[in-house]
Amino acid sequence: QDEMNIIFGALDLTRKTAQDVMTRIGDVFMLPIDAKLDFGTIAEIVRRGYTRVPIFEGDRQNIVGILHTKDLALVSPADSLPLKVLTSFHKHPVCFAFTDDPIGSMLTEFRKGRSHLVLIRAIIQSVDRDPLYRLVGIVTLEDVIEEIIQAE
Ligand code: ATP
Ligand code: ATP
Repeated sequence: QDEMNIIFGALDLTRKTAQDVMTRIGDVFMLPIDAKLDFGTIAEIVRRGYTRVPIFEGDRQNIVGILHTKDLALVSPADSLPLKVLTSFHKHPVCFAFTDDPIGSMLTEFRKGRSHLVLIRAIIQSVDRDPLYRLVGIVTLEDVIEEIIQAE
């Protein structure tokens, strides 16, 4: 039974898309680039418990970096270090995919090891103009694996 679920789940790699498995952008815990890593901010990051936290500048549509919580290991809350200093030091790549990308292609990207979190964009149709994008969610390796293992 478990084996069958995994086989059918694997078939979903081409059928299911980013949109089907993503965490919606409104539910994503992010930090503004101008945040200070004081006790309050670090406590909030720990309380949320995510390994990766997108960083935005201006508004939540504009992601400029990803904080990995392990980058905080040597940061002292008493220093109130600007988040900007830490992110310009680590410079983790920000990766994008589209809502209709199959989860199988995301799995390939994840396995290349650049990042375990991708930002999902929808194309907002615009005739005779450069396409407009809207950030609609995130997908992590966990979201894809869950789809493979839980599929019926
Ligand atoms: P890890 O398993 O490496 O500790 P994690 O627990 O931070 O990482 P994942 O396991 O990658 O996160 O994902 C678990 C779920 O949480 C997924 O549904 C994913 O989309 C979601 N998720 C990951 N990061 C965030 C975030 N910053 N805000 C909201 N949801 C997130
Ligand atoms: P994350 O992807 O959440 O940042 P990570 O990079 O610490 O986690 P994994 O991605 O879980 O680690 O594993 C990557 C590889 O590193 C795996 O082959 C795993 O067995 C190995 N690994 C994980 N932790 C350790 C450790 N403490 N010492 C040596 N190897 C480890």
